[in-house]
Amino acid sequence: MNLRSQIAGLLILFSVVFVATTYAIQAFIVMPAFAELEVQGADRDLKRCLDAIDREIDTICNLANDWASWDDSYQYVQDHNQAFAAANLVDEAFSNSHINLICILDSDRKVVWGESRDMGTRSLIEVPDLFDSLQDPACQLATHDNIGDTRRGIMLTSKGPILIGSKPIVTSKGEGPIRGAVVMGRFLNEEEIAHLAERTHVDLKIWSCKDPEIPPGFASRMAECIANRGSMIKSVDADTLEAYAIANGIDGEPAIALKINVPREVTAQGSISAYFATGCSIAGAIVTLFVMGLALELRIISPLQKMASHAVLIGRNDDLKARLRMQRNDEIGTLAAEIDSMVENLAASRKKVLDSAHRAGMAEIASEVLHNVGNAVNSAGCSIDLLQERLDQSKLAGLARASNLLREKAPVAAEFFAKDPRGIKLIDYLSDLNGVLLREQSDCQAEVTRLRETVRHIRDAIAAQQVFAGRSNFRQEVDLQTLLDEVLQMNNELLRATEVSVKLEIPPLPELQMNKSKMTQVLVNLVRNAAQAMHDQPSDQRQLTIQAHCVDDDGIEIAVVDTGAGFDAKVGEQLFTHGFTTKPEGNGFGLHYCANAVREAGGNLSAESDGPGNGATFFIRLPQVRPAERVQ
Ligand code: ADP
Repeated sequence: MNLRSQIAGLLILFSVVFVATTYAIQAFIVMPAFAELEVQGADRDLKRCLDAIDREIDTICNLANDWASWDDSYQYVQDHNQAFAAANLVDEAFSNSHINLICILDSDRKVVWGESRDMGTRSLIEVPDLFDSLQDPACQLATHDNIGDTRRGIMLTSKGPILIGSKPIVTSKGEGPIRGAVVMGRFLNEEEIAHLAERTHVDLKIWSCKDPEIPPGFASRMAECIANRGSMIKSVDADTLEAYAIANGIDGEPAIALKINVPREVTAQGSISAYFATGCSIAGAIVTLFVMGLALELRIISPLQKMASHAVLIGRNDDLKARLRMQRNDEIGTLAAEIDSMVENLAASRKKVLDSAHRAGMAEIASEVLHNVGNAVNSAGCSIDLLQERLDQSKLAGLARASNLLREKAPVAAEFFAKDPRGIKLIDYLSDLNGVLLREQSDCQAEVTRLRETVRHIRDAIAAQQVFAGRSNFRQEVDLQTLLDEVLQMNNELLRATEVSVKLEIPPLPELQMNKSKMTQVLVNLVRNAAQAMHDQPSDQRQLTIQAHCVDDDGIEIAVVDTGAGFDAKVGEQLFTHGFTTKPEGNGFGLHYCANAVREAGGNLSAESDGPGNGATFFIRLPQVRPAERVQ
């Protein structure tokens, strides 16, 4: 997986984790906190309702106290005087005090006066069970132990639950003895419940625990409430919470059940906020992803890829001239500068290695050449010594003496040759001298020829040294046809002398990239060897053919074919060995040099022969050099 894919994958992973974390925080921390707030709010609403009911009972108790701590009431409960009843116990008393029940009991818990009326219509409400309960000794409502005592609470009646309060009847100064109790009450009817709901600002419903019309399922909620210390909050759906509470009556038993519906505004608002926050984090992640991706792409990935491609290109094409030249002040810029400087150092080192190899090669060749020149000079010295010896021992001096004798005896030549024994000897001597001088001349001629050959060797060796001295990796475009023409021209004398007929089979080829000087030397050697190999063949069978053709996709092959001496397998194995030769005057350097030169050009030199007398073929296989591979 490349760097770009890895970084893109990591960025996407981080974004997904970021968004998922944001969502999890919203879902598991923020939203539950909102829900808890809502529950607390519902609990507060519930308490407010119960407090409101409590305050209503307090108001009723205060009203009862007004009536109970009054000398007139104190008197009335004792003497039942009609004046008090006529003045105070009237219908208006109910509506004015906003109550449904007024009951005056004496200290024996007997009702002295008691009525229950509708506050609006002022009509009587029949609740005999209520008055019976008040007089029941089990009911503590009408009994007070001390002057400041208050009995209060909720009672269940046949007309529904009633908020009730009772105070002891004492004098206006609050003195006893207690003569009974004033009990006042207000029914917790629809109107009163609506009033409470309005005051507490909640959607309130109240049922008597013994109401036969209590909604289905409510009984179980009541049981849960009782188990949960009187209150319970339940989530109905995404929009509403239901809060329940039970208020006990005066007898300590559950009397009324309250239910409030709380709209889940906090959760709704929280959900919107959570969605908004999650949406924002997604949008933020996308923007961050895009911006970071772009920044990483421009600032890091692209430059790194450029460096990687650069390194691959250098490795593949061996192009040590290519440079990154990144103008940056950060680590990537430093890395690019370091790569450039490393490539530069590498190029310099390679040049040094090449130079020293070149120098080492030249030194080796120079020593070989000097050695060969030395051998040739020795051989030339021998020839000269021999010539000198021949000249020293020449019979030419005798010829001079014979000629002087002839000149001296010329006037008496007839007598000298007829009678003088020296004359007879001279004739024999002169006839022998001719043969001797002819032999001497022939010997000298042979020695001069050998000397000329030796000098030619020296010249060749020096020429070879000059070629090697110019040795370099320089390559240029070479037309093979032109090159071969030049090579044949250089071997012209030899080819003519050996009467070799030459045939070129060169199709049109693309121009080759090669070191022309070296390739010339190679072909000159091969042509010369071929001509020499054909020396002993009948002159009509001396045929040299040079062919060339493309091989594979990117190379050419040049074949130098002769009809000469050929060679066996053993010679074939040693052909390219330095110093191997089968010629009396050979030095065995030529093919060794040729093989090295062709290998240096990236090619290969090989030879084939069907055996001695069957000719030989030398193959030069060269690759096509691409422009990027040219070394200047
Ligand atoms: P030299 O010409 O000095 O002998 P070379 O390295 O050119 O050195 O040749 C080495 C030997 O290879 C030759 O002596 C000869 O035996 C053999 N040789 C070279 N060319 C041919 C050829 N065309 N046919 C047969 N033998 C050859």
